[in-house]
Amino acid sequence: MITTKVDYLSETIKRIQFSGNFKDVHVGMGSFIDFRVSDTDARRYTISYVDTTNGLLELIVHLHGNAPGSCFMDSLGVGDDVHINPPRAYNYYDSSVEKYVIFGDETSLALVCSFLPVLTQHQHSFQFYLELDEENHHIPNLLQLKNYAVFSKNGSFSNENWISALPLVQSPEWQQANFILTGNAQSVRTFRKVLKGKSKGKIVSHGYWLQGKKGL
Ligand SMILES: Cc1cc2nc3c(=O)[nH]c(=O)nc-3n(C[C@H](O)[C@H](O)[C@H](O)COP(=O)(O)OP(=O)(O)OC[C@H]3O[C@@H](n4cnc5c(N)ncnc54)[C@H](O)[C@@H]3O)c2cc1C
Repeated sequence: MITTKVDYLSETIKRIQFSGNFKDVHVGMGSFIDFRVSDTDARRYTISYVDTTNGLLELIVHLHGNAPGSCFMDSLGVGDDVHINPPRAYNYYDSSVEKYVIFGDETSLALVCSFLPVLTQHQHSFQFYLELDEENHHIPNLLQLKNYAVFSKNGSFSNENWISALPLVQSPEWQQANFILTGNAQSVRTFRKVLKGKSKGKIVSHGYWLQGKKGL
């Protein structure tokens, strides 16, 4: 596929559009691609949007520093040809569930964008909880997300007491919701621990990266 458009939504968030023939490719919410980002490394990125009719596919990537995936994505420019493995599905969505809460960080923005049209179209109740660096607090608005709350990355989501006190966790209204926890694996682990005693819905936890761990 060919890189057809790149937008820096901030210094550390880049939206990349590719064009190609995606007609035979099945892409659902949260589907991801393993990209070969160097001779020895592969890294996983979520498809934020796909238009099979016009052959377009998009990613939203977090440029977090000097690491193979981050550098590869930062270096992609218009006209670059990228070979990809077929996308793989992740079974996050169940149409019979009424309420959804999706938690994550910059690495989860693509996931949230892939969910938004379906959650809206099928009239689910939903909340997006996003922990973001200050410089990215405006991104959910830029992406025209709805029903979101933005939190600073100040360690709150590694504090069980703080998470327990969140209105969403306290509210009986959201106890039946399905929780999809993504992004920083430490935050995911703590959030899950708090929910386990309280939530009656399904909890899907999928840490996307772990501090100090390279790659998958
Ligand atoms: C199913 C799935 C879907 C994903 N979708 C996306 C996506 O759509 N967009 C996206 O940007 N990422 C996504 N990720 C996360 C991405 O694959 C990881 O962040 C990956 O580690 C990046 O590779 P790297 O080579 O840049 O860093 P690595 O070499 O893996 O890591 C180097 C160092 O940086 C740290 N690190 C890694 N990622 C981050 C980060 N985001 N912020 C701060 N520190 C970090 C590591 O802990 C390590 O210490 C997804 C992961 C999974 C499993």
